[in-house]
Amino acid sequence: MKPVIGITTALIQGAKKVYATVSNNYVHSVERAGGIPLLLPVVADAETRERYLAIIDGLLITGGDEGVNPQLYGENPVRQLECICPERDCSEVHLITESMRQNIPILGICRGMQTLNVACGGTLYQDVFSQVDASLGHLPKNMPVDSVYHAVTLEERSQLESIFKSSRLMVNSFHHQAVKDVANSFTVTARSDDGIIEAIEHQDHSFAVGVQWHPEDLTLKHTHFLGLFSALVTASNGHRN
Ligand code: MN
Repeated sequence: MKPVIGITTALIQGAKKVYATVSNNYVHSVERAGGIPLLLPVVADAETRERYLAIIDGLLITGGDEGVNPQLYGENPVRQLECICPERDCSEVHLITESMRQNIPILGICRGMQTLNVACGGTLYQDVFSQVDASLGHLPKNMPVDSVYHAVTLEERSQLESIFKSSRLMVNSFHHQAVKDVANSFTVTARSDDGIIEAIEHQDHSFAVGVQWHPEDLTLKHTHFLGLFSALVTASNGHRN
């Protein structure tokens, strides 16, 4: 049986209502990798989230435009932070900490990698352009989401290296935050040439991987990125059995 992959959603303020929404590219990528996508709304009730965790075999923490709430790692917002969504953070942090405890496979993408790191005790740069000297471009304007933009170097013998079968990779990039202090038991497995952390992996958990780029937008045009979703689906199959 195909594994069920829970995909987190964002709260987006429309003209009249708030919508629970996520890019359909996550759904497509999970589907094409052989998983059953299941969208998870932001909910306030912890028991509801426990039930979601009982249903899913793997967890995909998605990206988003809001910054991760810096209070979660003991900081006040810098001016460049802009909007946050504490309800979403609360919901995703709970899903992550419980998934880590239950050994449910997790893939964190962009903001999702940042949330994974913070949920496990790490910290972030709230804004790399003002906080990291000589940072390169990570947030190009008017760039198609399915175009690659900057290079990353993958760590030898990492899960990422075995997925991509290469130590150098071109990726897309749409972020102004980044991982600063890596959470305990995680290692950095990709960096861009300015030293910004572009991927993390847990050392012991079966599959807890975060990437700072957006593989879900690349899977059609640059099909090797589907490998990340296949790895999540394979690990989730293992968890199911
Ligand atoms: Mn980047």
